Amino acid sequence: MRVSVICTGTELLKGTTVNTNLAVIGDALSCIGIVLSAAFNCGDDLEALKKALVTAAADSDIIITSGGLGPTKDDLTKTAICEVLGLKMHRDQSISANLAAYWQGKGRSSGLDEQLLQADVPENSEALNNIVGTAPGLWVSGRLDDRDIIVAALPGPPAELIPMLNNQVVPKIRALCSADTFTRSFMVAGAAELLVQQEIEPVVASEPLETAYCASVEGVRVFISGSDKKLVDEKYTTAKKLFGNKVLIDDLLSLPQDISRLLRQRGMTFGTAESCTGGMIGAALTDLPGSSDIFMGGIISYANEIKHHLLGVSQEILDSKGAVSRECAEAMVRGATRVLGTDTAVAVTGIAGPGGGTDLKPVGLVFIATKVNDQVLVTENHFKGDRAAVRKRTCAAALLQLRELLLEK
Ligand code: ATP
Repeated sequence: MRVSVICTGTELLKGTTVNTNLAVIGDALSCIGIVLSAAFNCGDDLEALKKALVTAAADSDIIITSGGLGPTKDDLTKTAICEVLGLKMHRDQSISANLAAYWQGKGRSSGLDEQLLQADVPENSEALNNIVGTAPGLWVSGRLDDRDIIVAALPGPPAELIPMLNNQVVPKIRALCSADTFTRSFMVAGAAELLVQQEIEPVVASEPLETAYCASVEGVRVFISGSDKKLVDEKYTTAKKLFGNKVLIDDLLSLPQDISRLLRQRGMTFGTAESCTGGMIGAALTDLPGSSDIFMGGIISYANEIKHHLLGVSQEILDSKGAVSRECAEAMVRGATRVLGTDTAVAVTGIAGPGGGTDLKPVGLVFIATKVNDQVLVTENHFKGDRAAVRKRTCAAALLQLRELLLEK
């Protein structure tokens, strides 16, 4: 399945808006084993948009567009789709009714005529529900140069695009892929891509199967695909066994989801004491709905005074070993479970850079302490990359370390 993306908006070309939608779409698709064929950016210009659609269509089965669905005159995506695919536009009564209900909810009898333009849709299209804004997305089926083509048109604001992409578009693309190809995938936590590949390839070699690997700081997602469902299932089971408990439990489960599952299974609570990550670990857990039963809270102990006064790290440790030290990390994690009253905790203290590094304590040095009941594990880590990469890697490594300790229980 070949998928490409067209992001519209003059602000993207001027650099006033960073094109995060492309990254989000690329990431969501790579999680189902599809690497984007191509990506295009164009301004709010009908001819540029039509040209991008024609070029993308030549090498795609599906084109995902972002932006240009609103009611203003620079919103041209639907017009461009109709003109390129030779489709007529018509007013969709159920979208009109939804818009009317929306305005009534705001205490207005109707919207402006211009706003009703959002109910105009190309023929052969299905509306995609927008749970945040008023402009629905569209799933348009058409033909160009004797080939079938689907255009999934999504709104530009990320808060509207992301749920529509994850809840509606990705499942539809997945269903289309599995019509002729069957894919199973699993995640190997904390593993390097090359090593995972070296283990798996002998298992699938000489079989009519395709493998894909998607590496992230949390680990490697493995995809095994083929037309023979029984064979895919069989090799998926064999391949998973190679990695023991490093495999996250369900297909496509993320590391924070897996940690939450393990904590719930054990009836344990969790808290954090974060220095260089400034709350990112707590955010990863609380991104998941319903996390209040396991996550009690976190202390962002950036300053030494907070480490000392709130977490009880002794002045002696701070003076003799420093805030970025094994001893400080251990004292932080003990302080976190005591102050927050949790069964488990992670604490991180390190130098994210770009400044602050020395020969003895270079940028990227991070101590991670995890505690599960009475057991404490402290590790010294040296992460590569810029500030953002060091913080992201710290967050993933802390959760992996906690997972290891939880699995020992
Ligand atoms: P609206 O009804 O708001 O006009 P729309 O579907 O027409 O929605 P756009 O007008 O293209 O969307 O974009 C609205 C806003 O969404 C932009 O001002 C910008 O802040 C944000 N946005 C658009 N495209 C992107 C992108 N590729 N990455 C990140 N943000 C984007």
